[in-house]
Amino acid sequence: MPSVYIKTYGCQMTERDSESVAAQLVAKGYSLAASESVADVVLLNTCSVRDMAEQKAIGKMQNIAADVRRNRPDVILGFMGCMAQSRGQRLIDQLPDVDLVVGTQKFHRAADYIDDILSGRRQKIVETDAEQGSEAAIREHLLHGQAQRGRSVSAFVSIMQGCNQYCTFCIVPYTRGEERSRSILDIVAECRELAQGGVKEITLLGQIVTSYGKRDIPARDGKSAFVQFIEAAHEIEGLERIRFTSPHPKGYGADLVAAYARLPKLCPSAHLPLQSGSDRVLKAMHRGYTRARFLEILSQLRHVQPEIGLTTDIIVGFPGETAEDFNDTISLINEAQFDNAYLFKYSQRKDTTAAEMPGQIADELKEERHARALERINAIGRRRYESQVGKTAQILVEGPSKNNPARYMGRTRCNKIVLFDGSPRHQGQVMDVKITRTGSFTLYGDPAILNLE
Ligand code: SAM
Repeated sequence: MPSVYIKTYGCQMTERDSESVAAQLVAKGYSLAASESVADVVLLNTCSVRDMAEQKAIGKMQNIAADVRRNRPDVILGFMGCMAQSRGQRLIDQLPDVDLVVGTQKFHRAADYIDDILSGRRQKIVETDAEQGSEAAIREHLLHGQAQRGRSVSAFVSIMQGCNQYCTFCIVPYTRGEERSRSILDIVAECRELAQGGVKEITLLGQIVTSYGKRDIPARDGKSAFVQFIEAAHEIEGLERIRFTSPHPKGYGADLVAAYARLPKLCPSAHLPLQSGSDRVLKAMHRGYTRARFLEILSQLRHVQPEIGLTTDIIVGFPGETAEDFNDTISLINEAQFDNAYLFKYSQRKDTTAAEMPGQIADELKEERHARALERINAIGRRRYESQVGKTAQILVEGPSKNNPARYMGRTRCNKIVLFDGSPRHQGQVMDVKITRTGSFTLYGDPAILNLE
C-alpha cells in the first residue's frame, strides 16, 4: 500500500484534523512516511489565520512540486484545511501539480478521494462544500505506536466546529463555517474509548470551545452546555486530566470559574485570548468584553486556583491602533502577569471587516510594537517560570523530548513543559518531580531527589 506524509500548519484544531485523516488512511492500509521525499501521497494541512501561514504552505508546495514530483511523477499532492477551503480551485490554477483540495468539512472523505485518484477514477478533486454532520466526523485517533511521537497518553478531542463571533480581524468564520456541536453522548463515547486505550489526558477542541452546544443544549442549574459536558467527561474512569482550547473570555461565566474549583480533573490552566488591552480596539475588534472584565476573569480564576497557568493571544497593529491603545496593551500585560503569550502582528485577511478599515498600520510600526510587547511577555514569563524552582509539580509524561530524545517530556497540571532524565518506563506516568531550574518557557525537573528530603 502507498505511504502518506501530512504536514500541518497552524493550531491544535488543524493538528487534530491531520491526525484523523492519517488514522483513516492507516485504517485503509496506508503507512505513514517520515518525510515528503519518500511518500507516495503528500498532504499539506493549512492555516489561513495569518497571511504568513498561507505563504509558507504555498512555498512548501512549490518546492515539493519542483523536487519530489520531478523525480517521482506519480506522487499525489494535496492541500487540506482552511486555505484549501478559502482558495479552492484557485490553488490548482496557481499550482497545476496539485491533485487534491479538501475543505474543512470534508476531512473525513480525504482517504476516499485519495483512493479515487490512485485508482484513476478521478483526476483532480476540489471538494469544499458544507456538509451536514461534518462536526462529528473528526473522530479517528492514532494511538499505540501509530502516533509519531508518544501522544497516546494525551489526546485531542474535537467537540465542535465553526465560529459565530465574527471578530473583525478573523477569517475563521469564513473558513470553518457556522458553529456546530457534537452531542454530549457522542463525545463521551469517544473519550471513554480513548481512556480504555490508555489515554489519561484529553484536550477538548473548538474554534470557540466555550460556546459548545449553546444553540442545542439548554443551560441546566445555571450550567452552560460546555460545563455540563466537562462534568460528563469528568465521570469517565481512567481519565485524569481535562483541558480545553481555545476558549473566548465571554465563556468564563460563574459556572466555568466554579468548575475549576470543584472538578479536580479540570487542569488549572487557561489560554484566554485577550487580543488588545484597549477598550476602543476591543470594541473595533468586536470582542464583546472590556479590559476590566478580562482582568476580573483572571482574578476570579486566580481566586479559585491560585497557581493556575494563564496564557493568552495578543494582536499588535490592529487598524487604527494608536500609541495610547498600544500602551494600554502593555499595561494590561504588566497587570495580568501571564505565564506566556502568543503575540501576533495584525494580518489583513480576505472578507474580514478589519481588512477594509482605515488606519492600517505600517509594517515597521507593527514590528516595533511586537518587539516591545515581546520583551515584556518574556520578562514576566521568565520570572513566573523561575518562581517554580524548588517546588514539586505533578507531571504527565508524554514521551521523549522532541529536541533531545535522551530527555523525557511531561506537562504540569498548569500546562508547563518539564524536561527530565527519563526512560521508557516513565512514559504515560503521572508522577511528581522537583523543579531544579528553568529554560526558555521550559522547566527542568528531577524525579530522583524527591524522596531525599
Ligand atoms: N478562540 C480564539 C479567540 O477567542 O479569539 C481564536 C483563536 S485564533 C484561531 C488564534 C489567534 O490568532 C487569535 O487569538 C488571534 O490572536 C490570532 N489572529 C487571528 N486572526 C488574526 C489576524 N488577522 N492577524 C493576526 N493575528 C490573528
